[in-house]
Amino acid sequence: MSGNDGWTAGEKTGDAGAAGRHGKQPIREGIGLEKVAESRTAKLTQCPFCSVQCKMTLEEVAAMSAGRTAFRAEGAPNAASEGRLCVKGKNAHQHATSRERLLYPMMKIGGEFVRITWRQAIDTIRAKWAATRANFGCDSIGVYGGGSLTNESAYLLGKFARVALRTRYIDYNGRFCMSAAASAAVKTFGIDRGLTNRLSEIPQAECIILAGTNIADCQPTLMPYFTKAKENGAYIVVIDPRSTGTAALADLHLKIRPGTDAALANGLLKVVLDEGLADEAFIRNRTKGFAELREHAATFDLERISALTGVGEKDIRQAALAYGKARTGMIFTARGVEQHSDGHMAVRGFLNLVLATGKIGREGCGYGAVTGQGNGQGGREHGQKADQLPGYRLIENERDREYVAGVWGIDPADLPGKGVSAYEMMKLVHERVIRAMFIMGSNPIVSNPNAGLVEEGLAGLDFLVVADMFLSETAKLADLVLPVTAYMENAGTMTNLEGRVLLREAVRPAPGEARHDWEILGELAEALGCGEKFAFRDAEHIFEELRLASRGGVADYYGITYERLRREEGVYWPCPSPEHAGTKRLFEDAFAHEDGRAAFAVVSGRPPEEEPDEEYPLLLTNGRMLSHYLTGVQTRRSPALAARDVENVLEIHPRAARLNRIEDGTLVRVVSRRGTVIVRCRVTGDIREDTVFVPMHWGGVQNVNLVTNPSLDPVCRMPDFKTSAVRVEPYRRS
Ligand code: SF4
Repeated sequence: MSGNDGWTAGEKTGDAGAAGRHGKQPIREGIGLEKVAESRTAKLTQCPFCSVQCKMTLEEVAAMSAGRTAFRAEGAPNAASEGRLCVKGKNAHQHATSRERLLYPMMKIGGEFVRITWRQAIDTIRAKWAATRANFGCDSIGVYGGGSLTNESAYLLGKFARVALRTRYIDYNGRFCMSAAASAAVKTFGIDRGLTNRLSEIPQAECIILAGTNIADCQPTLMPYFTKAKENGAYIVVIDPRSTGTAALADLHLKIRPGTDAALANGLLKVVLDEGLADEAFIRNRTKGFAELREHAATFDLERISALTGVGEKDIRQAALAYGKARTGMIFTARGVEQHSDGHMAVRGFLNLVLATGKIGREGCGYGAVTGQGNGQGGREHGQKADQLPGYRLIENERDREYVAGVWGIDPADLPGKGVSAYEMMKLVHERVIRAMFIMGSNPIVSNPNAGLVEEGLAGLDFLVVADMFLSETAKLADLVLPVTAYMENAGTMTNLEGRVLLREAVRPAPGEARHDWEILGELAEALGCGEKFAFRDAEHIFEELRLASRGGVADYYGITYERLRREEGVYWPCPSPEHAGTKRLFEDAFAHEDGRAAFAVVSGRPPEEEPDEEYPLLLTNGRMLSHYLTGVQTRRSPALAARDVENVLEIHPRAARLNRIEDGTLVRVVSRRGTVIVRCRVTGDIREDTVFVPMHWGGVQNVNLVTNPSLDPVCRMPDFKTSAVRVEPYRRS
């Protein structure tokens, strides 16, 4: 696995080289970079990967073979990452200039992809969708988006589903990224914005709890905020079943048993309350529901919590005292806490702690959901989610429907109702309720849990269209693929984990016949007879409509303009008017519920739903590596990144390895009730003895989601990716 050289690493530049790692691609050599302007001046853009959205400059440094160009990426001064760039950002241009980019539309004929024209592609899609709708109704077509799309694309995709296709079935891969933290924040605070305050406040925190987040690998350029806090004397607690690069920074590492975060949060709360560390004035003046919670907390038994979580009572006490006694403090959660069938309540457990100690709404105090995807924040605000309309409006709220229908120029009665979550949509595909699907910027057969069922379902669709940069694992199943532009070519806004809206400019023309997402949606809408509602000149034109659609909503972007974003270092929403400065810190005076109060929740800490047994004695958890992003479609095509981690691995403790007759460096089979994955084994004392870890960046037989648990959280419909009972055995070729 990757080292933890994080943001200082990655000096390699240029060569997009190394074609063909993933098999023969029916696309032409080279990428049409002859279109690129001659200028050697560095151009300002933004990393396409994680939620920090680091600004960077790209400079052409050399002409390569076949008309291709080498680039040098450097971090650019900016307020989010302070000019740092990690190894992924340093090499992001490599996938964008890869020979494997899709350059023209292709249709599968006789099992092979064949080049077709855009006209043929649009006409084919129109005919197939018309037949599907005539036979099975509007809801027989599903739409699946992604958290890496720009705000403009995400907004337009939501509008396209509701206005052009008139289907209720739209959701996106961000469901797997944000839904637990988002729903918990909405219930607790009345609003969901990843961080309640700026990243630059982190060094002011006297105690920081990092729960289920491996920032060193996932958002490396943020690490210096935490090292700075530590230099200032902060006490850092890391909660993680593995000894990660982030845990190396900790004063106290709580090596928790996966799936027991809610119980641990309850244990921390109990100590805070028992030791008289609650902020009674804050609780009285700014919150509701505390009496019920206090009564519930009286039943917590620290010994039992310790046994369940695998964290010693002494350590629970130490962490709680450090946080409770600190004058300022911040808590961060990420997928380690959230991707469980009780993820919503686990996050609420940590938010109880924030509220009980009054550590929010002032400098150096707050909560942060560390989003994973590049636009994990903005992607969830403007209508790709099954129950949402732009501006975080709700599709089942009459006033919200009326407002957005007014902006879109349609009758509110014509807006479909709420759909279902991403994995539930895949189940409807499998059950053939959904007969055709349009996927934009996502690779669901690798990113969904129980991936075998998802692949079977998508393969059985009457008609599957995938818009992507590459022939991803999912695109390979498609009947028709449409080539889209990459970050270097596609301008638009992204909202980073702080809720800071940033403008990313394009730095080169589209290669081949690749088109922007919004151009494709415009053409498809035209073919469906409503082109006038999708007739946009450019991304800024779409953003102007998005501003209006979000106006007065929870995520209000009305005061943000491209002109302003070019002038300022991003603008924080809510920003209700052009004169408004943007909201750098939330909840200084009031929370966003109507009564202005934040809501405590009674959280029950229960064991994971899928417990190990004799047949499946280990708990599998999963996550990311430094050198890869999401399902690896982009980073596996970047030679510099692919070379760092060439294949998927299993981390297993030495004693567990011995028990299961597993040797370091050999191939192993990881088997769950749902399937099998084959990966190389790494024996390491960095992981708990009862837990194994497999990253999420590979498809095929190395796809960890072939074995993961699809149980859904009852509130937010987040799958239980992080706790699957498995057995591990040596791999023997049959
Ligand atoms: Fe920055 Fe994230 Fe890109 Fe790394 S991957 S350069 S931390 S945006």
